[in-house]
Amino acid sequence: MKKILLATTNKGKLHDVKEILKDIDVEILSFLNFKDYPDVEETGLTFLENAELKVKAAFEKYKIPSIGDDSGLEAFQLNGEPGIYSARYAGEDANDEKNNLKLIKKLSEYSEPHTGRFVCAAVYFDGKEFKSAVGEVKGNIIKSPRGKNGFGYDPLFIPNGYDKTMAELSHEEKNRISHRLNAFKELKKYIA
Ligand code: IMP
Repeated sequence: MKKILLATTNKGKLHDVKEILKDIDVEILSFLNFKDYPDVEETGLTFLENAELKVKAAFEKYKIPSIGDDSGLEAFQLNGEPGIYSARYAGEDANDEKNNLKLIKKLSEYSEPHTGRFVCAAVYFDGKEFKSAVGEVKGNIIKSPRGKNGFGYDPLFIPNGYDKTMAELSHEEKNRISHRLNAFKELKKYIA
């Protein structure tokens, strides 16, 4: 079976990608399969630049067709924050809970609704060509976390057309509408 390496150690992301690609015949590996995986510095200024940095580092090291994915939440009232800094929004020792608290605090200075979007840039590289795609899902950001599924900012985000947060939706439901689905469905034809 063809192997694809997803350049991440994020289990939530890996879980989402496995679900999204389950209908094609590939084995999805991640950096979690290796002890000596590269620590990719996210020095890009856009999601796409960071996704490229990740895929290049993965392919260079393991020579396996790879995907780099960079994603995050943009709050429109905060000019797109946390954006590319989503994973490290609360600083050095950031985690999902601290990041969410920082976002809630910042949004408290603005009136509701707090609209925003999740963005995912994904880049596939098999040693020959780079293929990239960007996906989004728009919605409302709430200030009281709800739900136990998913990861990151999922408990704060209600996609447009829904009354549940991403963390209250089932895994399958999230992956039918997510930014990650919208990016990866573009890449599927190259991966398969
Ligand atoms: P990355 O690993 O540098 O792409 O950072 C992704 C960060 O963006 C995660 O740590 C989350 O904070 C946030 N994020 C990206 N995708 C999602 C999602 O599907 N749900 C919730 N948070 C997400």
